[in-house]
Amino acid sequence: SGRRRVPGSYLRALATAALGLRQASTLLYVEHNGAGGIAPATLSAAAAAAQHLPGPLEALVAGSGDAVARAAQSVATVPGVTKVWTASDPCLERPLAETHAKLLADVASKLRPSHVLAASTAQGRNVLPRAAALLGTQPVTDVVKILDDNTFVRPIYAGNAFATVQFRAPPAIRVVTVRPTAFPAAEGSAAAAAPAEALAPELVQGAAGVRAAVWEGADVKASARPELGSAKVVVCGGRALKSKENFAMLEELADLLGGAVGASRAAVDAGYVANDLQVGQTGKVVAPDLYIGVGISGAIQHLAGMKDSRTIVAINTDAEAPLMALADYGLVADLFSAVPELLEEVRKA
Ligand code: FAD
Repeated sequence: SGRRRVPGSYLRALATAALGLRQASTLLYVEHNGAGGIAPATLSAAAAAAQHLPGPLEALVAGSGDAVARAAQSVATVPGVTKVWTASDPCLERPLAETHAKLLADVASKLRPSHVLAASTAQGRNVLPRAAALLGTQPVTDVVKILDDNTFVRPIYAGNAFATVQFRAPPAIRVVTVRPTAFPAAEGSAAAAAPAEALAPELVQGAAGVRAAVWEGADVKASARPELGSAKVVVCGGRALKSKENFAMLEELADLLGGAVGASRAAVDAGYVANDLQVGQTGKVVAPDLYIGVGISGAIQHLAGMKDSRTIVAINTDAEAPLMALADYGLVADLFSAVPELLEEVRKA
């Protein structure tokens, strides 16, 4: 016949164009500190996308004033990032979930990436599911492994099992959050900075119109210690510490080891430490090189937040405590004598 065969790739490109879809690409939601610092968790998400998702990696930096340019400059040199989109407006100054989700959804609708990605942090977990709802799709959250562009592994039952999930009828835009502890952060900087471009003001206007919430203030504790979620060493204290004052020992140990302090829920509920230090199912997930659990029994809800730590040390008077069973090194001792001794040795080292 006189018919000519049309290559499949040509048909796919045509269908993609006809549906208004772009080739595979990822839009990364960036968390920054306003001073040009990019959250380590975002660097993990960037690495996850660069290594496991197809197509270009475009970053979205939202904020207000100079903070946006500073963050954009930092993100532009993150390995794998191919483009930086910036959105600057007073309504975006604070990471209010309502405004940031609206912006992210509007930008995704306009750019049509195949994936919208963020780190599974307090902020990412707040913003992304809302953006997914605005996009009319379901997010896949807390991903620990990306098998292909449509297949993801995520923990269920507080980390006691892993589910491999797929979008059955892949939506045009797949919204995903990844656990930073499962993907090593992007390191170093790219040889050439990715180009940055400001989004058209009308794209930001939708967010400015959102009046659902007002930022009243933030009570942020300044700390010279590394961030709990990405620290290489975590020293965690439990109920057995008995007081806020006794936590000072663990703070000193953490400082000597260059680590962060964490706590069990019992210690948080007793008011010994602030609740942003809680490790576990309803707290932070940590996976440091070294985790030291002091006076912590190892309830399943606590283990859910730390069992992927590389080396686990437990100090407990009870040799039968569940954390002892998981520990690489278990010290059956009274913490009030063991920790001061340990401090003395570490100070000498
Ligand atoms: P305990 O279980 O009371 O353990 C104290 C340990 O200290 C004991 O093992 C004891 O032998 C030891 N000890 C006592 N004296 C000394 C001493 N002098 N020296 C050394 N060791 C000593 N918990 C979390 O941690 N994180 C969560 O995110 C979390 N989420 C939860 C969510 C839900 C829905 C529920 C129901 C619970 C959750 N919990 C969580 C609570 C959890 O079940 C436990 O109650 C909690 O982890 C216990 O904290 P703990 O180990 O400090 O206290």
